[in-house]
Amino acid sequence: MISGKAIEAARLLDRLQRLARAGELAGDLNPAQWDALRYLARANRFSRTPAALADYLASTRGTVSRTLASLEAKGYVRRAGNLRDGRSVEFTLTKKAADTLKQDPLLLVAKDIEKAAGRGLPDILESLREMLRTAIARNEGRAFGICVSCRYFRANQRMGPSPHHCALLDQPLSDADSEAICVEQEPRAA
Ligand code: SF4
Repeated sequence: MISGKAIEAARLLDRLQRLARAGELAGDLNPAQWDALRYLARANRFSRTPAALADYLASTRGTVSRTLASLEAKGYVRRAGNLRDGRSVEFTLTKKAADTLKQDPLLLVAKDIEKAAGRGLPDILESLREMLRTAIARNEGRAFGICVSCRYFRANQRMGPSPHHCALLDQPLSDADSEAICVEQEPRAA
């Protein structure tokens, strides 16, 4: 039996999400295009493919490919060959995209959360993470967690600007890489 408060919380989340989406309709981007830009801004170099984006958004590859083609035509993303898989392509953000993301409507939601939650923010964050983990498991999706929390992440194994190491892909990782999300990420056991 689901409690009335839990149902009310689910309704509030749904309403908040719809209001946040309404802010995304100004300008020349639609909500799906905002989602793609946000993902590409956070994803590491192994994860900026249409397939990974489709997995992240629980969408189809055809839908995601159309979104990326539209962003490319508008000058927000650039396409290049994928070094890991010659049959695939990867996308990176242009300066126009980086500038646009500084005005991301989601930042207003973040501001509202900060104001409403105050010192309770860490607890809210942990509850949301737990809810996301449950939803991902139910949908048999990938975690897309942060690199530094991956079981394949090895800190400070190398010299130079990329001192960390990915034991799965046998690749060097920089400090910035360690904070990015990854399609191959598998959470480290607690
Ligand atoms: S350590 Fe994990 S998250 Fe980081 S690049 Fe390798 S597979 Fe991806």
